Amino acid sequence: MNTPTIGVLALQGDVREHLKALADAGAQARPVRRAEELAAIDGLVIPGGESTTMSKLAVVFGMLEPLRAFVRAGKPVYGTCAGMIMVADKLLDARDDQETFGGIDMIVRRNAFGRQNESFEAAIDVAGIPGGPVEGVFIRAPWVESVGGEVEVLATYDGHTVAVRQGNVLATSFHPELTGDHRVHALFVDMVRHTV
Ligand code: GLN
Repeated sequence: MNTPTIGVLALQGDVREHLKALADAGAQARPVRRAEELAAIDGLVIPGGESTTMSKLAVVFGMLEPLRAFVRAGKPVYGTCAGMIMVADKLLDARDDQETFGGIDMIVRRNAFGRQNESFEAAIDVAGIPGGPVEGVFIRAPWVESVGGEVEVLATYDGHTVAVRQGNVLATSFHPELTGDHRVHALFVDMVRHTV
């Protein structure tokens, strides 16, 4: 499978940028809005945006259980920013009724970097990505407060975990789709290639 088909969850968020980054990284990329479309993809990206809205829309569009099942089936999933929140098993600073798809045994704190530091960029060394640090774009970003034993921490910033992987699920607090550097997407495309 040289050119895997990778969906971008298109309920809300920066879908277009991920479609382009995935195509540049060697995948066939398409937006996914309906549960039936999950059958035709080898992996899925959950974009940045607003996780509370994404959670509500997932319920309205009947995508919550199908996406949970997709993750449970071991299909590769990559969540950026709000997408990281959606693949967390547990949340802090979220409304009680905010749902996630889960997949990574971690606790994620929403909007963790605080008001002073709402948006910023920083050079981030990511384990498994050759060629030096990636430019991390953080926009009202979450961080990972704690992880379970099966979770690999791939990157930290200022003492906080900002990139993780558990099995086939990858998550970053930051937005590599906004930089034109597609090495993180290439890592995910490789994960998808090695899955099927
Ligand atoms: N703060 C947003 C949330 O909680 C995430 C921001 C982003 O995706 N850039 O969903």
